[in-house]
Amino acid sequence: LFLGSRYESTAAASDSGNPPPPPAEKYEYQAEVSRLMDLIVNSLYSNKEVFLRELISNASDALDKLRYLSVTDPQLSKDAVDLDIRIQTDKDNGIITITDSGIGMTRQELVDCLGTIAQSGTAKFLKAVKESKDAGTDYNLIGQFGVGFYSAFLVSDKVVVSTKSPKSDKQYVWEGEANASSYTIREETNPENLIPRGTRLTLYLKRDDKGFAHPERIQKLVKNYSQFVSFPIYTWQEKG
Ligand code: ADP
Ligand code: MG
Repeated sequence: LFLGSRYESTAAASDSGNPPPPPAEKYEYQAEVSRLMDLIVNSLYSNKEVFLRELISNASDALDKLRYLSVTDPQLSKDAVDLDIRIQTDKDNGIITITDSGIGMTRQELVDCLGTIAQSGTAKFLKAVKESKDAGTDYNLIGQFGVGFYSAFLVSDKVVVSTKSPKSDKQYVWEGEANASSYTIREETNPENLIPRGTRLTLYLKRDDKGFAHPERIQKLVKNYSQFVSFPIYTWQEKG
């Protein structure tokens, strides 16, 4: 079946004159990331809404980075798109999309940033969990330390990150699922998903967390947690 579907996609691609896209590559998470994912996915931590603060803060960092690096390297912002954050909700399907026009990630940066733990706060979090007597049951640690990008898995079954760095001419897609020990990276080939620069996160919410995909809910969280972000944050609802 696998070969069959690959054969078909190859045939379709060559009909259009384009070479077939390279297949998705599979990567194993660094052991610490797997541990962290386990803790997040299986946690009974109730303050799940912190995921939005973490992801907006990453978007804001990426926009800051672009602005800062553009001072010495104006080529980085050659695509004249507004510096902003857009959050789209699709309540019927339980999907949240967070798009920023920041620095984005190259393929290598995807591997380095979303497959390993470089962040010192996360390392401290894991150490604290280890030190805590009932390791894995002290769920407040998640809120206390902030678990960054992986907090998306507090509310999501699947997370897709499509990202375009101004340093690369290609856009790449990172895809990870809760309870999986590996993630994949492939080239973005769907023209509808292409962005000039930056990062688009798509969160496929868990059944019990689909309520987050409501614009009012998102707007309230943005007000509560992200009021000091220095870039505009737009929210809207997918037309049903
Ligand atoms: P931290 O933000 O503390 O570094 P995170 O786990 O939140 O840790 O994010 C890990 C890394 O992934 C970031 O440092 C950054 O390099 C990269 N990253 C995450 N989100 C984005 C984004 N929206 N745009 C560009 N890079 C990102
Ligand atoms: Mg972060």
